Amino acid sequence: MSTVAHLLIALAFSSCIYVFTRKSHRKFNISLICLFTIGSILPDLLTLLDIVPNFFGEATNYNPFRYYYHNISMWIVISLIYTIFFKILLKFLNEETGNQTKITFKQIYIILLASGLMHFGIDMLTEPVGLIGELFVSITSFYTPYGVLGEQDLAYIIFILMTFNIPMGLCLFSLQKSEKQNSFLNSCESLIKEESWDSLVGYVNIVIKEIEYSLV
Ligand SMILES: [Zn+2]
Repeated sequence: MSTVAHLLIALAFSSCIYVFTRKSHRKFNISLICLFTIGSILPDLLTLLDIVPNFFGEATNYNPFRYYYHNISMWIVISLIYTIFFKILLKFLNEETGNQTKITFKQIYIILLASGLMHFGIDMLTEPVGLIGELFVSITSFYTPYGVLGEQDLAYIIFILMTFNIPMGLCLFSLQKSEKQNSFLNSCESLIKEESWDSLVGYVNIVIKEIEYSLV
């Protein structure tokens, strides 16, 4: 599925959640809509990076890492790595702009997971998507590298769950306040709050100021 289509579908989907939750005191606000929409194209990042070499005639249609990256079960881990990146970026932007945009580690992870799973669900319409190991799934069948396994009804159910029910459930769950303070995602949040991250952000700030100074 084209990247623009992913962006438009994710924007429409997350805007609907905003409308449903706008009267609640925990609404799916603009920052979360942006995060969900950006997250919806991250699974295609390796494909997008191929645009430049393809433009110059170097055919890189098969990127060997793409299978591991554009993969439903791997996304559970990959979105955790993106969460660390977005959390540090948010902290940096808040310090630079003086804004107090508050999105927790848990919220970022759940929303990136939701938008990634939705991406794979939509991709199932046009191509088989890696599910786990050497097993692929499309809207019509399951596949292995050796052939089609069939099971059309189960493939339909996975398609519906991935494009609608799971992303909707995860987005609404991301608005709930976690009671368990020692859960894994809350521990990650406190890890990033540690002074080591502060000094990392501080160090990046100093480097940027040095570069700005040397350019003047
Ligand atoms: Zn894709």
